Amino acid sequence: MSQSLTGIAASPGIAIAKAFRYAHAAAEAPQRTEVADASTEVERFRAAVAKAKTEIDAIRESTERRLGAAKAEIFEAHLMLLDDPDLVDAVLEQIDNDSVNAEYALHEVTGMIVEMLRGMDSEMLRERAADVLDVSGRVMSHLQGRPYAALSGISEETIIVAQDLTPSDTAQLDLHYVRGFVTEIGSRTSHSAIMARSLELPAIVGAGKAAADVPDGTTIVLDATEGRIVVDPSVEELADYRARKEAYDARVAELKRLASEPSVSADGAHVELAANIGGVEDVAKALENGADGVGLFRTEFLYMGRTSLPTEEEQYETYRHVLDKMKGKRVVIRTLDIGGDKELPYLALPKESNPFLGLRAVRFCLSREDVFRTQLRALLRASTAGKLNIMFPMIAVAAELRQAKAILAEERAKLESEGIPVAADIEVGIMIEIPAAALNADYLAKEVDFFSIGTNDLIQYTMAADRMNDAVSYLYQPYHPSVLRLVRMVIRAAEREGKWTGMCGEMAGDLTAIPLLLGLGLGEFSMSASSVLPARELIGRLSKEEWSRLAEEALQLGTQEEVQQFVEQRSHA
Ligand code: PEP
Ligand code: MG
Repeated sequence: MSQSLTGIAASPGIAIAKAFRYAHAAAEAPQRTEVADASTEVERFRAAVAKAKTEIDAIRESTERRLGAAKAEIFEAHLMLLDDPDLVDAVLEQIDNDSVNAEYALHEVTGMIVEMLRGMDSEMLRERAADVLDVSGRVMSHLQGRPYAALSGISEETIIVAQDLTPSDTAQLDLHYVRGFVTEIGSRTSHSAIMARSLELPAIVGAGKAAADVPDGTTIVLDATEGRIVVDPSVEELADYRARKEAYDARVAELKRLASEPSVSADGAHVELAANIGGVEDVAKALENGADGVGLFRTEFLYMGRTSLPTEEEQYETYRHVLDKMKGKRVVIRTLDIGGDKELPYLALPKESNPFLGLRAVRFCLSREDVFRTQLRALLRASTAGKLNIMFPMIAVAAELRQAKAILAEERAKLESEGIPVAADIEVGIMIEIPAAALNADYLAKEVDFFSIGTNDLIQYTMAADRMNDAVSYLYQPYHPSVLRLVRMVIRAAEREGKWTGMCGEMAGDLTAIPLLLGLGLGEFSMSASSVLPARELIGRLSKEEWSRLAEEALQLGTQEEVQQFVEQRSHA
């Protein structure tokens, strides 16, 4: 009989495919067996290494083709590990010396290396343990004659089921085969959820421990419009979900007719509906969905899933490419926002007990000017290719903004003195995602060209509720009057200085929030590409004038539930 699970609908759509259980954990420890003929074991081991190399090389090649050379670098490192005498020769020696089976020798040597790496002071070396486990797990799978659970090697239609997916796991998904994913933990604003939306990949997160029991290879239905997972569906359920999937896909196709229409309310107010992107590969989806621009380019993805910092040249190429492809439409590029749940192992940053309250985003950049200046130079050099806006994340106080602007001005002056052209009209803005910045927006507004409200963080800091922690996910309340009042405060402050305000947190694409945001005077809404057309259709049915009155009424209410009910009633009135 089928079984039904629920979770948080993180990226809409319906998928039907076989479950692929993905775990980072190592395989079970093999038994020690004495062998009479060590040379057979040596041969088995060499053959397994050779197969692993062929596979990794194929993954490297396809990653380079799909995502570029930088993303493929990690697999070069994996190939090198399979030539490393510390691993390979040590296994061969152990087989010879102790006359043991290859699996046991590999397990022992891997264990020793991993333990040694994990005891290192350097975070970067500690992180190498995961690479050793990955490579050795692949060799082990060949020795044991079973498939290796690796995301990059998937070659049939699947829905991934995992405890969690890191942003770099998500970056490796092969969209030819992966139809969606389910995770046990996570929230709508965790980065795997954001990535799924930008890839237009159906996803359910926070499905809880029950997801761990979904057997590998079982057919499952992922209804990521409702947050429901049906495991081993009956014939009737399958037929029902196939019909729903068809209807959903047809509606998505139908909305595409709005892709070349302007974003304008029923009473003629124009707004900008922009897309959030994480890299060059997302630009096509943004354009396909008729985005009026890019309201947030999360550049940290350029820094992730690799072993060293991206160079100025690599970044320049990427930014130039995005600006060029957007053909003069506004592109807001956010400077590096690392920290929180986004780590860069190769920077070997000290562990923090509260990473979301620590040295993240602009705080990190101001403490590592070398990293910051490289990015700013790349941005400035690319600026002549289109309409660039530069945005600093996580500004709390004016001093940070001033320091960031001063560094930007220095880099501009250096480039100009080198005779390198830089666009004259780059707008510089900040994300408002810390309550202190929202409360002080009238002061900050004098020193920026624009604000973009980052509600994913603004809500977490307003509610003091970790956006990654399921146990407090009930506090993620975008329509809570406290949040809405902060939003209003920011928009008003910018208006008084003649500046514009956008929003690039997930709330901007939320169909319940949109009427209120339109009414409060938000000028730009930036969201995952797949949300642009539903948002355009909704805005086309709303009167901005009416909603500016209704939003004021809603802000007088006391709870998120009351606001939500109010919006729903007025929308259907
Ligand atoms: C936000 O905080 O709302 C935001 C857009 O930034 P991120 O989700 O990347 O932290
Ligand atoms: Mg943020």
